[in-house]
Amino acid sequence: MKKAFLTEMEARLRAEREKIVGELVRVSPHVSAGDAFDADYTTLGDKEDESADKAAEIGDNLSLENELSSAVRDIDSALKAIEVGTYGTCKYCKQLIDEARLQVRPTSTSCVACKKTLTQEM
Ligand SMILES: [Zn+2]
Repeated sequence: MKKAFLTEMEARLRAEREKIVGELVRVSPHVSAGDAFDADYTTLGDKEDESADKAAEIGDNLSLENELSSAVRDIDSALKAIEVGTYGTCKYCKQLIDEARLQVRPTSTSCVACKKTLTQEM
């Protein structure tokens, strides 16, 4: 992978991460930006005034929250991969992933050929 390409991807991933974390904090008032991922859900409902309505609302947000959290985890592993120099390498066949594919989906961890194989198997 070219250095310039990695730098571009890193910038995009960081911007995307910031956006998603912002969204995550918005849908989950109990999640703080600094510590968005190891949120301690066991504290939920500890307080007497935590009404059932509030709990239901949190339930509605939970699937979106999970989706956002998993998106952040994908971005984090992509950023980690950039750091350790494995970014853009297919996790199945160890070949380089097409730059065009990474442009479209910066968190891709498999090449088009492997992805296709996987999809056919499913
Ligand atoms: Zn592959």
